[in-house]
Amino acid sequence: MSRKPIIAGNWKMNLLQDEAKALFEGIKSFTKDFTAPQLPTIVIAPVFTSLNVVHTEKCTCGCGGDKIAIAGQNCHWEKSGAYTGEVSVEMLADAGCSYVIIGHSERRQYFSETDEMINKKAKAILAGGLIPIICCGETLEQRESGITDQHIASQIRADLNGLSEEEIAKSVIAYEPIWAIGTGKTCDSKEANRVIAMIRNVVKEISSEKAGDSIRILYGGSVKPSTIEEQMSQSDIDGALVGGASLKAESFNEIIANTMKVSV
Ligand code: PEP
Repeated sequence: MSRKPIIAGNWKMNLLQDEAKALFEGIKSFTKDFTAPQLPTIVIAPVFTSLNVVHTEKCTCGCGGDKIAIAGQNCHWEKSGAYTGEVSVEMLADAGCSYVIIGHSERRQYFSETDEMINKKAKAILAGGLIPIICCGETLEQRESGITDQHIASQIRADLNGLSEEEIAKSVIAYEPIWAIGTGKTCDSKEANRVIAMIRNVVKEISSEKAGDSIRILYGGSVKPSTIEEQMSQSDIDGALVGGASLKAESFNEIIANTMKVSV
């Protein structure tokens, strides 16, 4: 089963509008030389205040902008209302997003997001015609106590609860061991692949063989141009969610280029 790889850049709470525009232009300067089928699916997730700036850059004039999809870094599950500080799926779509990252460990840790909330968000994103990138992962303590698989399987079961086979098949999961995020310590590629294969089996068990074979599962955690080839050579790793290395066009473009050497 061939799944189109995804390279997604999570810009987190970084970059002012001019900086976001410059970074987007730097990525476009790479994508313009390729057709969409030659490239992995490329997704970038700027802060909300820069969504409009990058969306304006997504023109179809041949500059490459139309080959880069935009993601929100979070959303609320309600359509509108008295939810100060929140943003709805419809609002993200209106600002040019086709993906939304949910359940990032930083949101789980600093903003107390639960699997129940993540599940409501996933349902709202899919109902709104966008694609959720659902993050999961274990702490170092959980890994050391040998409960990695158990913990991640429980996150996945709760996050995907009630989604149809079709909805699961088009969703994206990012396996991000928390101890590897922003630390420079990447998870060994074979071990990342093992966990991702385990996640795929959980998806098959709760949904169907087809959903498990179709869903794209990314690895995230200190991905760099020097690590991506080995990661993308694994059987079950379908791409990467990249934090730090997505903030410079040079390193993000190199990650895309190295992905194209081994897959796409
Ligand atoms: C992330 O925050 O999703 C991430 C993987 O960050 P980094 O690549 O910097 O580890």
